[in-house]
Amino acid sequence: QAPFDHPAIRDQFPALKQTLGDHPLCYLDTAATSQKPQAVIDTMNEYYQLNNANVHRAAHQLSARATSQYEAVRQQVGHFINAAKPQEIIFTHGTTESINMVAYGLTAQLQANDIILIDTAAHHANIVPWQELAKRTGAIIKPIPLTANAQLDLTAYEQLLQSKPKLVALCHVSNALGTVNPINDLIAQAKNAGALTLVDGAQAIAHLDIDVQRIDCDFYVFSGHKMYGPTGVGILYGRFGQLDALTPMLTGGEMIKTVSFDRTEYGEVPNRLEAGTPAIAEVIGLGAAITFLQGLPRQDIAAHEQQLMAYLQQQLLSLGDITLYGIADNPLQNNIGSVAFNLANEHHQDVGILLDQQAVAVRCGHHCAMPLMSDLNLAGCCRASIGIYTNKQDIDQFIHALITVKELLL
Ligand code: PMP
Repeated sequence: QAPFDHPAIRDQFPALKQTLGDHPLCYLDTAATSQKPQAVIDTMNEYYQLNNANVHRAAHQLSARATSQYEAVRQQVGHFINAAKPQEIIFTHGTTESINMVAYGLTAQLQANDIILIDTAAHHANIVPWQELAKRTGAIIKPIPLTANAQLDLTAYEQLLQSKPKLVALCHVSNALGTVNPINDLIAQAKNAGALTLVDGAQAIAHLDIDVQRIDCDFYVFSGHKMYGPTGVGILYGRFGQLDALTPMLTGGEMIKTVSFDRTEYGEVPNRLEAGTPAIAEVIGLGAAITFLQGLPRQDIAAHEQQLMAYLQQQLLSLGDITLYGIADNPLQNNIGSVAFNLANEHHQDVGILLDQQAVAVRCGHHCAMPLMSDLNLAGCCRASIGIYTNKQDIDQFIHALITVKELLL
């Protein structure tokens, strides 16, 4: 592996080289979507220029090339998260689709009054599909409460597990606050209680080394676009037996063994869960993103991100009139990727617009986590989020811009 050369890593992201007005772009919205390295852009272009063909279908050479590239990424993703076999990797269009596929696919396995536990900090993508499952089956959703500083309430969780839930859906890292769940312990407890488990890893995958066998969950889901890959591709990892037991949400071409008007037989996993033409270029682009990440010194990157997070939090607090949300007693240990804040009583949207006028991109709003916002008693907040390319100058530009905003508003 190459030695840690941060400017060289940042240099690979062309979008970051632009200026907006008089200011260099300061991109602190990586949790919404990451920027893409040149290698991902080039790989997708090359696919369209040279190899474009549908997968799994034709006898010709282009199709064979596209298929082997596509299937190689399945293996690559499997290794990246340590799945037991490549068939446990299903290509979807993103985290949202992955969770919907599980929630739909479990319909026949749930009954009235079965309990589904959901993290109060969950993204809507990890709430609404379970609500729909509950409507179809009569299952009951119970939110797992949070503590005063927005960490999962472990005592309440233990008590809820005594009700023998059928399913536990957790986030690994919260997209709104950057709080991290102690996922291995939480899953072990859920398993002891006999529950199926799904972990939303959308905000974890770019920052942590993920080992699904160690986490020991039944399903782990994430999106390519948050890990330096393209939009339009996501992953549903599932334990083989659990994937095999899902009813396919989408049916049609590619997912069948035989079709007749009397009787249709479905094919095997993974194809059974990948109906229709997949996002071939995006899957191949995701492969390039993983190759890119694997070529970097992951420990140095993790240390760099941790230092930046601490610096970001300290600088924000030293401004005064800033409230941070979801900060544990030892912030260094407990927030990854995102910092949520408000400036005095100012509306988050006003702060966001004034920051944007200085080329600082942050996210403002409820962050697709309305139950979390109402738990925090907030209409919304601003979120600054970092990635592997973020540097100290970004944080300084952001803080400088926020001082200007403060002078304008307060
Ligand atoms: N879960 C979490 C924790 C997320 O951060 C996101 C994206 N904001 C999603 C789910 C949904 O991902 P996607 O929009 O890529 O389907």
